[in-house]
Amino acid sequence: MRTALVTGGGRGIGAAVSKKLAHEGYRVIATYCNSSKPAEMVIDKIRDSGGDGVAVFCDVTDQRQIALLATHPWICGGVDVLVLNHGRYDRVQADELDLTQLRRTMSTNFEGAFLVWKSIEPHLSPDARICVIGSQLGTRGSAHGADYSASKAALATWARSLAQSVGPKGQRVNVVAPGFVDTDILGGDSTEKRASREQEVPLKRIGSPEDIASTVSFLVSAESAYITGAVIHVNGGLYLP
Ligand code: NDP
Repeated sequence: MRTALVTGGGRGIGAAVSKKLAHEGYRVIATYCNSSKPAEMVIDKIRDSGGDGVAVFCDVTDQRQIALLATHPWICGGVDVLVLNHGRYDRVQADELDLTQLRRTMSTNFEGAFLVWKSIEPHLSPDARICVIGSQLGTRGSAHGADYSASKAALATWARSLAQSVGPKGQRVNVVAPGFVDTDILGGDSTEKRASREQEVPLKRIGSPEDIASTVSFLVSAESAYITGAVIHVNGGLYLP
């Protein structure tokens, strides 16, 4: 059975990706960090639908936990799809950013993704597909997220570099850069803020986690066999680089 590893696969976009890939026949390892409950519920749903999956704890800022993750028997059996989805966004004004906050964000969003890939790499199948969840802010920047934007820019550039390096082996690496997506990241929005976000988007709605999951699904499928090193913006027309 083909195996997919989804970091942060128990909530938001990651949960939608886990369910989508399970529906497509992958057994899914969904990692969680802060709370096991949502990830376990996702796995229950996958199993109820006839699929297979497991929720595994892994704080990507802790190298020992990443090393432990890499010993999971399903991972040792070979990973066909790696989705580096986890992320944090703390909304700090760019001119108030300090080194502690910058390091916190970089160690989760960028280094965490790198370290997961690094420890899983020996188990990646020869034609593995890697999908990184970036952000429009990785290109656009943000007055209240310089650390977040920089981490996503680093992630995208790393992914494009990796794509060029592993392409000859048969592996592909792509980035999905979402715009506004309806998850806990936008959970703090007031009704007015949400309405103004919707107005800002040419398609006049906030994206759903499923909008992102279907793009991930395409990028890890044979349908996208000639796409690698791409950054696909999925944002309803909000930002057109
Ligand atoms: P959520 O807050 O719902 O999910 C974030 C996920 O990251 C959770 O599963 C969380 O785990 C995990 N995570 C956070 N910190 C760590 C850590 N230290 N180690 C391991 N896992 C961690 O947000 P989204 O679903 O929206 O975010 C998913 C990705 O999409 C992120 O990379 C985000 O930057 C990106 N994105 C989201 C946008 C949006 O508008 N929603 C827009 C652009 C990009 P746990 O469940 O245990 O808390």
